[in-house]
Amino acid sequence: MRASVAGGAGAVVLVWAAQVRPSARLDALFATAAHLTGLLAGYGVLVLLFLMARVPAVEHGVGADRLARWHAAGGKHVLLLLGGHGLFALLGYAVHEGLDVLTAARELLGYPALAAAAAGTGLLAAVGLTSARAARRRLSHEAWRGVHLLVYPAAALGFAHQLAGPDLDLLGWFWALAHATVAVLLVWYRAVVPVRQALRHTLRVAEVRDEGPGVVSVVVYGAHLAELRAEPGQFLRWRFLHRRLWHTALPFSLSAPVRDDTLRITVKALGGHSRRIRRLRPGTRVIATGPFGALTAARRTRAKVLLIAGGVGITPMRALFETLPGGPGELTLLYRAGAEEHLVLRAELEAIAAGRQAGLHYLLGPSDGAYDPLAPQALRALVPDLAEHDVYLCGPPGLAEATSAALRRAGVPAGRIHSECFSF
Ligand SMILES: Cc1cc2nc3c(=O)[nH]c(=O)nc-3n(C[C@H](O)[C@H](O)[C@H](O)COP(=O)(O)OP(=O)(O)OC[C@H]3O[C@@H](n4cnc5c(N)ncnc54)[C@H](O)[C@@H]3O)c2cc1C
Repeated sequence: MRASVAGGAGAVVLVWAAQVRPSARLDALFATAAHLTGLLAGYGVLVLLFLMARVPAVEHGVGADRLARWHAAGGKHVLLLLGGHGLFALLGYAVHEGLDVLTAARELLGYPALAAAAAGTGLLAAVGLTSARAARRRLSHEAWRGVHLLVYPAAALGFAHQLAGPDLDLLGWFWALAHATVAVLLVWYRAVVPVRQALRHTLRVAEVRDEGPGVVSVVVYGAHLAELRAEPGQFLRWRFLHRRLWHTALPFSLSAPVRDDTLRITVKALGGHSRRIRRLRPGTRVIATGPFGALTAARRTRAKVLLIAGGVGITPMRALFETLPGGPGELTLLYRAGAEEHLVLRAELEAIAAGRQAGLHYLLGPSDGAYDPLAPQALRALVPDLAEHDVYLCGPPGLAEATSAALRRAGVPAGRIHSECFSF
């Protein structure tokens, strides 16, 4: 995937190189730099939209959290390229016309295609600013998402500018085709497929069950659920048609395999929305889109598997613990929690461990305690042949990153650590 994206960027540079007319004049140099940064920024916007189009092959192959990280990192580069493009174009024009920068800017903005591009860049900058860590912490998820929708008009404005510009003489038709393809993918997978799924599966809440302090399981029933092909380890985006929840779609992993036309999630009350889930009544309509995520059996490369769950990260691990193929002694689950009363789905985990002769260890204690049960030596003590395992890991971002590093130090190759963070 990364190689394809880099290959596309290389092709864009080749298109640019084929158009360059060598010149040592300052205005020509600025114009050339503006062309290159503009082409790469246009390509970058297209890639960012593609990464978020929820194309199943990409979602399942890469994983939603990794896609979101690539999208965020790519967004920063695109903004830098757009800034560079605007600056080089402005300086090139100012030098060519012998104008000061302010007058040049005023004149350039008089051209409709350039005004459109400037507006598009402004919208993308707003999206970038609200995605910066400091701003994101202060904004609700819905507000952040609302601002993010500006990406679509921004991309349309940018595209209009690109078609009006001189950069696409060679491959203009290909550029338009690539944009049209991404637009179709976005409409199909983010609008048509969810509506089709809602009509086909007609999901409703069957039961809400207490699992522990602040944690409930929600069982949902519906029709033709096998067609979803939801695998243990995956998640869906759930919209509960309840007075105060319908406006948001929350990601929750399946905490049990799909069974008899029922799906189950297990939810920890963390914020306003997840807290309301415990009040859902049987019969409430549900719209779930997905499945998403790459934390599935397909990742496995070894006979022995170690599952590590931190807190509510137990949900996908619970489903994998039951379903991953394996003989006695080949599966081990480590479940990290602050204290015994925070353990959820415990009876199920113990029944699965006993039935499959699988290892199950609870690693209890505060996360800032002196002893870290997920440190390399502690992991090796619990699982002596650790380096022979595939490791599936799920938990909050801090735990997932620290444990990933500990596993690598303990000799597990990075390619055999399959992790998912409960944050985008
Ligand atoms: C792939 C994935 C799988 C998950 N699986 C589970 C699970 O099985 N059980 C469980 O208890 N939790 C799970 N979570 C976490 C759960 O989605 C959040 O706790 C929940 O969305 C918080 O919503 P809130 O509005 O109550 O909390 P808030 O306090 O509003 O938000 C808490 C955090 O959740 C993020 N968040 C809020 N709404 C969304 C949204 N619509 N999409 C993405 N992130 C959002 C916020 O940005 C913030 O970082 C999962 C998260 C992800 C990304």
